[in-house]
Amino acid sequence: MNYMREALSLALRGKTSVAPNPLVGCVIEREGKIVGSGWHKKAGLPHAEIIALRAAGELAQGANVYVTLEPCCHYGRTPPCVDALIAAKVKSVHIPCLDPNPLVSGGGVAKLEAAGIQVYIGAEAAAAREQNQAFLHYIATKKPYIVAKWAMTLDGNIATDTGDSKWITGVKSREHVHQTRCWLGAVLIGVRTAMTDDPKLTPYLLEDFENRAQEGISNPYRIILDSNGSLPLTAQVLKHPDPERTIIATTAKAPKTWLDTLKAKQIKTIIFPTNINGGVDLDVLLTVLSDMEISGILVEGGQQIFTSFIAKKLINRLHVYIAPKILGSKKAFTAVADLGIAKIVAALKGNIIKLRQIGDDVLLEVDLL
Ligand SMILES: [Zn+2]
Repeated sequence: MNYMREALSLALRGKTSVAPNPLVGCVIEREGKIVGSGWHKKAGLPHAEIIALRAAGELAQGANVYVTLEPCCHYGRTPPCVDALIAAKVKSVHIPCLDPNPLVSGGGVAKLEAAGIQVYIGAEAAAAREQNQAFLHYIATKKPYIVAKWAMTLDGNIATDTGDSKWITGVKSREHVHQTRCWLGAVLIGVRTAMTDDPKLTPYLLEDFENRAQEGISNPYRIILDSNGSLPLTAQVLKHPDPERTIIATTAKAPKTWLDTLKAKQIKTIIFPTNINGGVDLDVLLTVLSDMEISGILVEGGQQIFTSFIAKKLINRLHVYIAPKILGSKKAFTAVADLGIAKIVAALKGNIIKLRQIGDDVLLEVDLL
């Protein structure tokens, strides 16, 4: 058995609840048998290693531990896992890579080795990095990991000329989008999309929304870019039971009475400096969101938002859902406009990272170069 792969698949169970923390899974093996395992569910709850050690009990002594990220050696919201591993007298610890968090990086390994525990680094490193791409980017750059998502027809349209986009893709694709919102911990749209679609930006159906609340799992932040302050006060996105997780990013152009009404609803409003086009300055926005421990954002459009994020090279990955449909319209919306590219040779290029079918649609994951 590949114990690290087993640990990675356990880690995935935290995917819709763990942000802004990393996904971590842990397997404890002794004499060819798994004697304990665990995964990290959310900030403030025990780390994967602790859950696995508790499950293994005395069997952890002399056992081999496989954990998908370097065990922590600092006091965060919970005590250091390294101390627990040493106290349990494990024989070896296997990790794919070091934790880039400067509070940990290499420190966890050094402390384990000083206690006489053998540490092996490198197993399934590429898969582990891909799994924690958002966390690793956030820790290394202090900027949220940005995924731009759009759903389009075979002829490249994201909406009709009237702005209708419900629904280009099927229910399975839309469920996948909801999971991605939870994984990244935040979703962002422009005010035009907020007005045209009037989305709630919830992670799931209402029942699950309540389940999450009962388990103390926060819902993804909902961020609306609205430089002029034109979002109607009746918008669905303003009606959540956790209004403090709705953020309206605006500028000094927003009317005071509008701002006051939003504040009275407990909605978080933030005034940003403007860029040369009069919109919210995106660099400042991302710095502020990062300071709020928002480690990832799913940017969901519309066209103007995609265009400005791509023009500023702020996208880490594209999630493009393609539905086997043809719209056939000159005026329908494409995902991106106005990049001023006249020749194919000058087109922005990317690498396909993953390609798979979801229901009747295809999902392409692309990293832009
Ligand atoms: Zn830990």
